[in-house]
Amino acid sequence: MYRKNAWQQYIGEERARLGAFADDYRAFLDGAKTEREAADAAEAICRAAGFRNLDALIDSGEPLGPGDRVYRKWMNKSFVAFVIGEESIERGMSILGAHIDSPRLDVKQNPLFEDEGLAYLDTHYYGGIKKYQWLALPLALHGVIVKKDGDVVPVTIGEGEDDPALCITDLLPHLAQEQMGKTASKFVDGEALNLLAGSAPKPETEKDAVKQAVLAVLERDLGVSEEDFISAELEAVPAGRARDCGLDRSMILAYGHDDRVCAYPSLRALTDFEGTPGRTLCAVLTDKEEIGSVGASGMNSHYFENTVAELCALLGFDGDLSVRRALQNSRMLSSDVSAGFDPAYAGVYEKKNAAMLGLGVCFNKYTGSRGKSGASDANAEFMAAVRRVMDDAGVCWQTSELGKVDAGGGGTIAWLCAKYAMNVVDCGVAVLSMHAPWEVISKADLWEAYKGYCAFLES
Ligand code: MN
Ligand code: MN
Repeated sequence: MYRKNAWQQYIGEERARLGAFADDYRAFLDGAKTEREAADAAEAICRAAGFRNLDALIDSGEPLGPGDRVYRKWMNKSFVAFVIGEESIERGMSILGAHIDSPRLDVKQNPLFEDEGLAYLDTHYYGGIKKYQWLALPLALHGVIVKKDGDVVPVTIGEGEDDPALCITDLLPHLAQEQMGKTASKFVDGEALNLLAGSAPKPETEKDAVKQAVLAVLERDLGVSEEDFISAELEAVPAGRARDCGLDRSMILAYGHDDRVCAYPSLRALTDFEGTPGRTLCAVLTDKEEIGSVGASGMNSHYFENTVAELCALLGFDGDLSVRRALQNSRMLSSDVSAGFDPAYAGVYEKKNAAMLGLGVCFNKYTGSRGKSGASDANAEFMAAVRRVMDDAGVCWQTSELGKVDAGGGGTIAWLCAKYAMNVVDCGVAVLSMHAPWEVISKADLWEAYKGYCAFLES
C-alpha cells in the first residue's frame, strides 16, 4: 500500500507544465472568490474554448449532435458544461462535479448601523467557520446589489491596491483575560461579526452621522440606497491574492481552495478535451454545498436534472425515461477537498487512511460521520474501474477518510447524484487549514487531480 510522493515522479517537462497550470489556477482564484464570480469565470473559459450557451439553443430548438460543446449558467451561481459524445446519451455520461461556494460572511439584508461613532455592516456567517479566525484581518466585499428596477450593480471593494478594506475588530490582549478563558466556539459571538465600515460623521448631521456618511459614499460610488441592501448578495471574504506558499513554492495559500481546487481542474479537463468523445462528458460546478446543497442553485435542486432533460430533448430523446437512463447510466467523480494530514494535529487523523499532501488526487470511497451516517458509499466495482483508469494513465493517487472514526466527519454532493442511481465516488485534493480564511494545497495534488480528471473523461 506504499504510495510514492508525486514530486519524485516528475521527469522531463512535466514539472514546468505543473507550474504553468498552478499559475493559471492562481489567476482563476483571484478572479473567482464567490460562486457568482466562479460561474462567470467558468463561462469565460468555456466561451474561449468554443462552447455555446445552451439556453440560446433551447430557445431556438436547434438540434445538438456529437462533438457539440455547450454550457449553461444557472441563476448566475451554478454552472454546467457538456461535450456531446458519439454514443447515445441514454448510455450515460462521464461527469465531473465540484462546488464553487466557500465559507464566508454574508452581509445581512438590513446591515448598516452606528454604535458610538462607528458604523458597521452586520453579517451572518455562511458555512462551517471557526469564527475567531475572521477577526483582525483585511476583508473584501464581493457580490451584487440589485436595484428595484432590476439594474444589477456589481460590487468588488477591497481587492485593488488603493481600495479600502473592511475588518472585524478583536479585543486587545491586555483586556482579554476573560475572553481568553472561553472555548474557541464561544470566543466570539456570531452576532458580533460586524464589519467596520466607517468612523467619520457627515457634517451638520445630528442623528447617525457616521452611518449617513457611509450611505453617502454608497450613493456616490455605487448609486445605491440603504433599501437596496434588501435585494443584495454581498459576501465578505479575505482580501488579497492567492500566493505561492513555502520557500520551495510547492504549495498555494489562498482563500476558497474548498472547492475551487477541484472545480477548476474539473472544468479545465472538460474544456481541454479535444475531438469527439465516446460518452457525453459533463462538468457541473454547483452552489450552496457548504450549507447543505439546498436552494434553487444547490445540487439538491432540479437544475442539473432539468438541464440534462433539455440536452436530451435537443439530442432527439424527448421523454422522461431517456433522462432517467442518461442519469442512471452515468458515472461521476464528485470532487471535493479532503482533510490533509497535518502533523501538528496528528491526533484527529488515522494515518494510514489520511490524505497526505503531495501523494496525489485523493479518493474517498465514502464520507459521512458516526457510523458512515449520511455517506454515499461508492461500489467496489466502480472503485476498481477508477483504480484501473488512474493507474493506466500514470496518475498519482491515494485514498482517505475524513479523520478518525468518531472524530467528526462531513458530506459532499455525491449522495445527491447517487439519488439517480449512478456510480459516483468522492475524490479531490488534500487541504491544510480547510475552511480557514487562507487554506493551503500542494501544487502536485492540483496537477494530479487535473491528470486524473482528464484520464476519467478519456476512459
Ligand atoms: Mn467542499
Ligand atoms: Mn467545505
